[in-house]
Amino acid sequence: MRHLITIDDLSDVEIQNLFYVTRSLKSGETEYYSRVLNDSSYLRNKILANLFYEPSTRTSSSFAAAMHRLGGNVISINDVNYSSVAKGENLQDTIRTMGYYSDIIVLRSQNEGDAKLAAEVSEVPIINAGDGKGEHPTQTLLDLYTIQEKFKTIENLTVTFVGDVVNGRTVHSLSKALKRCNLNYCETYDIDKLPPSDVYYLTRVQRERGSKGSYELTRDHVAEMPDNCIVMHPFPRNEEIPQWFDSDPRASYFRQMENGLYIRMGILVSYK
Ligand code: ASP
Repeated sequence: MRHLITIDDLSDVEIQNLFYVTRSLKSGETEYYSRVLNDSSYLRNKILANLFYEPSTRTSSSFAAAMHRLGGNVISINDVNYSSVAKGENLQDTIRTMGYYSDIIVLRSQNEGDAKLAAEVSEVPIINAGDGKGEHPTQTLLDLYTIQEKFKTIENLTVTFVGDVVNGRTVHSLSKALKRCNLNYCETYDIDKLPPSDVYYLTRVQRERGSKGSYELTRDHVAEMPDNCIVMHPFPRNEEIPQWFDSDPRASYFRQMENGLYIRMGILVSYK
């Protein structure tokens, strides 16, 4: 049994193997896909528990969709206020309980370190779907996959993070992974000083964690960006990326969402 708590739980080779499975699932073309994965009952009789202490649209839905597409079932506690948590149950007791009813637990929690705590008592694998301002490793996997899909490599690229790099868990996990991949990465606190980059990774100001302020991508900023770059965002977005940018070929956040499904299918396949 293996938990996925931090992106460092996966080696570079494991990440590339996961990308191979993801590519197979997305294209439906490789021999591996026809031999092993072209089977909608691949995870028949397996149950995933989605346990969310914070709001989610993409992570919870894509994990549920991934499980359904592979023939498995899902127990969803998408609002713990309707569970025994509202009666004061602690995380460990909830995790132990869900472990009796499921084969894998996808956990989003409010506090950094909760996923590790859960793993310590869990009888089934814990997938960290975001622990407070800590990490969000499955988001990082889909982010890296999206970068590799575009540039055919994840080496020798320049990545600029814009936004709430202090409280944004997606930035924490992705920057950890990028350091391992020998990428160049920059952080900027000034949207008017965007360095030339291959990837601009914008994030929302995490108001629920006490962050303040706002910023917005303008037509002037966009005019300065290289033609071949990509603009990423883990979503939800607020005002930082206006909708007029969505039709720009460099806007890559919808591709991230799509890739999230295949990455999460790939993760579930590897836990079979
Ligand atoms: N959805 C991402 C997360 O859960 C990004 C965000 O909420 O800003 O971390």
